[in-house]
Amino acid sequence: MLATRQFATTRTTIADLPIADLVTQFGTPCYVYDLESIKQRVADLASFDVVRYAQKALSNIAILDRLRKLGAVVDAVSAGEIHRALRAGFSPNSQPVGIVYTADVFDEDALDLVVKHNIPVNVGSPDMIEQLGQRAPGRNIAMRINPGFGHGHSQKTNTGGPQSKHGIWHSQIDDCLLRADRHGLTVTGLHMHIGSGTDLEHLSKVCGAMEDACIKVGRTITTISAGGGLPVPYQANQQYVDLHQYFELWNATRNRLQHQFGHDVQLEIEPGRYLVAEAGYLICEIRSVKRMGENLFYLVNAGFNDLARPILYGAHHPISICPRSHGSKDQVDVVIGGPLCESGDIFTQSEGGFVASRKLPMADVGDWVILEVSGAYGFAMSSNYNSKFRCPEILIEDGQAKLIRQRETEADLLRLEIIP
Ligand SMILES: *Cc1c(COP(=O)(O)O)cnc(C)c1O
Repeated sequence: MLATRQFATTRTTIADLPIADLVTQFGTPCYVYDLESIKQRVADLASFDVVRYAQKALSNIAILDRLRKLGAVVDAVSAGEIHRALRAGFSPNSQPVGIVYTADVFDEDALDLVVKHNIPVNVGSPDMIEQLGQRAPGRNIAMRINPGFGHGHSQKTNTGGPQSKHGIWHSQIDDCLLRADRHGLTVTGLHMHIGSGTDLEHLSKVCGAMEDACIKVGRTITTISAGGGLPVPYQANQQYVDLHQYFELWNATRNRLQHQFGHDVQLEIEPGRYLVAEAGYLICEIRSVKRMGENLFYLVNAGFNDLARPILYGAHHPISICPRSHGSKDQVDVVIGGPLCESGDIFTQSEGGFVASRKLPMADVGDWVILEVSGAYGFAMSSNYNSKFRCPEILIEDGQAKLIRQRETEADLLRLEIIP
């Protein structure tokens, strides 16, 4: 039996620290991350040779620093992410290599940085081979392959097939090898990020496509990457992925390739969400409790500027209430909304923007709402929309709450603007 998760609708602590104390110290809204959860998730993946964290999920440099100390390396998808990785102490020259740049295009900044710091590139388009080859001939590269089919929970998150913009189309591998040859680039790795974590039948198709692609490239291959896409439960009774079987499928693929090539092939995995989603909690405060027809609303002081997944994908986050005063409360159906001047600013919505309700305890202005499993694509997607200050981030480590990003101020908001 695979493990499942349950979520309580009342919560008074995070990693054993009282929420009331966290709020007193850091204010609301704020993101809190439990390092212990991240440690467990890294440990889950110990059978892979390399755990390469897709930092776009949560890119605070303190989180990157701790992941480095836990033995992970990182993926960077932009110049900014390369700067973060360097700042957090990752080296492009370590073994396994600390930073890989993965993208479908180079912007000028990113190309300059990978050339300057000798950062390995995982190319997602034939043009990238030309652009890198002209600037830095003779290097090793990896190619991200689109095997011609995908898997994803929505159109916006599907990462393979003809509708996807990602990677090099599987039938263009030969052409890309010729391009690489022309610049003396050697293809030493292949990568597929198709995100089929729970569907093992589909995963075996992905593994088969990887094997075919590797054989096409030939004996220069020394690394394969399974990409990311490992899911985590966001709702009660959802199961964790069967990591044992997931690993076994990839490991068997790797073993066949080693046999075929007669040398070692490293197996990387590249999770974002899996490592950090469950570690994160967005704490906000109820500022209004109001009724609109048959709907009861709790309006809180966090909005989609803080957590965009519900408005972007209709994503479901577990939600709990932390009451200021004790005593059990009846459950009611409620809609949770934020402060933004936009009607889509609702945390309880389904895909397509339909307002939904949630059974939660009765609560009052001043009680706290906790948006759970929000560590991945939470703060990382936050914005200054409505000129809101981005909220602080706090890391709980060894029973201590440590500030890892300050709440933005008016000075931060206005720093780059000019009245000419
Ligand atoms: C986003 C991304 C990942 C991580 O995806 P998750 O679903 O968060 O695991 C891994 N690799 C690449 C190239 C990505 O773009």
